[in-house]
Amino acid sequence: MTQLGVRMMTTDCPLCGSDAWRPIMRAREYVYPEQTEFQLAQCRPCGHVFTNPRPSPDTMGAYYPTGTWTAPSRGNKLEDYRIGGLPWREAMRRRAEGIMRHARPPGTLLDIGCGDGLFLHHMREQGWKVEGVEPGGPAGAYARGTLGLKIHPGSAENVTLPSDRYSVVSLHHSLEHTNDPRRVLCSVRAALRPEGLLHVRVPNFSSLDRRLFGKSWVGLYVPCHLHHFTPGRLVRLVRECGFRVLELRFVSNETLWPFFYSDSLRRALAWVGLYTVAPIGGDNDTTTGRTAPTGDMFSSPNPLLRLAHRLEYAVFRAVGAAMDVAQLGSTVTVLAQAERAESAPLTT
Ligand SMILES: [Zn+2]
Repeated sequence: MTQLGVRMMTTDCPLCGSDAWRPIMRAREYVYPEQTEFQLAQCRPCGHVFTNPRPSPDTMGAYYPTGTWTAPSRGNKLEDYRIGGLPWREAMRRRAEGIMRHARPPGTLLDIGCGDGLFLHHMREQGWKVEGVEPGGPAGAYARGTLGLKIHPGSAENVTLPSDRYSVVSLHHSLEHTNDPRRVLCSVRAALRPEGLLHVRVPNFSSLDRRLFGKSWVGLYVPCHLHHFTPGRLVRLVRECGFRVLELRFVSNETLWPFFYSDSLRRALAWVGLYTVAPIGGDNDTTTGRTAPTGDMFSSPNPLLRLAHRLEYAVFRAVGAAMDVAQLGSTVTVLAQAERAESAPLTT
């Protein structure tokens, strides 16, 4: 038991069950000032990378900030709200691009780990019927109360989903938080209508930024990220759970702010004392009560600083865009279709 009341446990490979894993690197946690280090392990037989040992599921909550993660639920006006420099609707439109390419007309969408529900709100404006899954907390309360969305309380793993109901299920930066991604994807498969779509986005462990920044890479986000997917391992898992992969895409610039590069650089600089690093919850984090310099620098009052950040962003955005083409982008997105349960009849 650590001083935070966290109990650590060692696990076999969460995807294939093998006990043949080896430590490959260590990474720091950024929620608490102690910045405890966690170990990443790789499974020899299946190649999966996972946080091991990890906090037990019942004590993991210590690493989830009690604060909210987005501005509208803290009283800002939704219409003016921007995410990483982008108007929120544009950020959500970008997120929906893959879904829109394959799912017409609008159907019923479930977003697991929907946070404050802005993605659902956007999709509802496009004519979709929408539902979310989000544990209790300010974000879910905002989605339910202020936006009037249907939110199933709970997590990906303890929510009971109706079967055969949804035309699309999305998991945006949430699958890597689950204890058992295989079980989650199988229950998603059962909740989808025949040929329904799965949309999963996770940080890309094989990305250039992860290779460049190593243990400072923000995509590691230990211990909340229990899994560190490579594109290959994610695709295999999705297939094993009964899906046919339609698209594999890489997105480094989810907003105007090249988060994975810029924040990782700041952490790397903090290692050598050139920067004061912030908890990943940023100024929304109320667990530690610290405010943070991280995040959106577009509105810095210092013109020189503004210029420096714009240059930094321009360089990182260009590098990120090139890496997306080279399949080394900061995040990987799999768009897949539920295969029919019975195999197709053989034709002679
Ligand atoms: Zn394995």
